[in-house]
Amino acid sequence: MSDRAAYETVVGLEVHAQLLTASKLFCSDSTAYGAPPNTQAGPVTLGHPGTLPYLNTRALELAVRLGLACGSTIARRTYFARKNYFYPDLPKGYQISQHEHPICRGGQLRIPAGPSHRDIRLQRIHLEEDAGKSLHDIGPQLTGIDLNRAGTPLVEIVTEPDIRSADEAYAFLSEIRRLLRWMGVCDGNMEEGSLRCDANISVRKQGETLLGTRVEVKNLNSQRHLRKAVEIESARLIEILEGGGTVRQETRGFDADTERTFPIRVKEDADDYRYFPEPDLPPFLLSEEEIQRITTAMPERPDEMAARFQTAYSLSAYDVAQLCEDRALAETFQRALPTSDQAKPLANWLLGPVRSLLNDQGKEWQALPITPAHWAELLDLVQCGQISFSAASQKLLPLLMEQPRPGPKALAIAHNLLQDAGHDEVRKWVQDSLASMPDKAAAYRKGKKGLLGLFMGDVRKRSKGKADPAQVQKLLTQLLNDHP
Ligand code: ADP
Ligand code: MG
Repeated sequence: MSDRAAYETVVGLEVHAQLLTASKLFCSDSTAYGAPPNTQAGPVTLGHPGTLPYLNTRALELAVRLGLACGSTIARRTYFARKNYFYPDLPKGYQISQHEHPICRGGQLRIPAGPSHRDIRLQRIHLEEDAGKSLHDIGPQLTGIDLNRAGTPLVEIVTEPDIRSADEAYAFLSEIRRLLRWMGVCDGNMEEGSLRCDANISVRKQGETLLGTRVEVKNLNSQRHLRKAVEIESARLIEILEGGGTVRQETRGFDADTERTFPIRVKEDADDYRYFPEPDLPPFLLSEEEIQRITTAMPERPDEMAARFQTAYSLSAYDVAQLCEDRALAETFQRALPTSDQAKPLANWLLGPVRSLLNDQGKEWQALPITPAHWAELLDLVQCGQISFSAASQKLLPLLMEQPRPGPKALAIAHNLLQDAGHDEVRKWVQDSLASMPDKAAAYRKGKKGLLGLFMGDVRKRSKGKADPAQVQKLLTQLLNDHP
């Protein structure tokens, strides 16, 4: 048995994120996902002789925006490089990327780590074009090539080897995904391949300062796969070292079905790609005014917003993390909040019933039509017990979504949802329910307490969901116990 605790895992990630542009990095082909194969591959994408690339400046702007959000240094002068290699889905025989002059250098991303957090340093963020897709599942002995994705703009985010565990790798990918989506840089859709990552993994004895030899696991397309890959690779490397072997630097793949890694090739060096400055594109200059313009257009960062929420509204770290998972949600919260002392109940409403209703209806946060004044009214109705939480969330909320005016109170009255006058009504439903099942009531009184649920359900049906479950339960147990 190897002593795993004697080793430290070291990980550096290379994250590829597809930029949210309508057209490709160097031509006007559409980047829309899901079109029939090879319908979005014009002459530039196909690398036809005589065609020339020209830069989509929106892509450059999104890369700068991401760099600014990470505190990176933005290059005022940047250029592209040719990375030469053969691949069937790379028609030109080279990829236009950036080598020695990436658009962003340095910076960091803060990740939650245990009860606290850690800052993971970034080496660089650079722009490059994606390759096409090889389709290996179209028939036996056949591979199809779809070049729709070829030339799609990507940023590659490269971290320093600062990550120390599978959980931290998972946290980094979650956090960068949130930031990319928040900033409108990438949709973060990992199933569609808009975000994918390679993990460089090594192990070393605790206390050792030199890095061990790494392996690189390619193309991990979910946070879970990344975590699994780091776990099994570090265990495998420790086994090798403990067995007296040496680790070979190599590139490996990950099989999601068996959750195993397998060797692909022995690692190539940068030299093998024969990088040279792309002769068909000039260097690009960024002025201070342009950087200023991009900065001004940026939304508040998620971690800044979270910190502000936590202090201003004394919400728990957990609530704040949930609210700030998604910018539209965080902004909805901010927009809807009537007064700061209602932050907690409003957060509960948004994270609970509102979120599930929007999910059910396939709607976005922006579609929520309830004003702060109406939120105040609604929260107040519930707080004063004028309407039960269940009636408010199950009945009133959907009504309000359809018809936000004249407001919750008027709507609740119009639909007979207020419960003040309803006490007698609830008692009647409970009594009717007990009378309709005398044998079950008797069984309950003899000790089959589990039958309470049956009566609860029956009263809910009789009241068409209007009766407050807490009130029903109280009355039911009272009537059952008082009348043996
Ligand atoms: P390339 O993979 O293109 O050769 P680099 O050598 O710059 O590029 O490294 C890429 C990634 O590998 C970076 O995220 C870096 O932090 C990470 N890395 C480099 N050496 C190690 C190591 N010994 N263990 C873990 N990660 C490493
Ligand atoms: Mg690499």
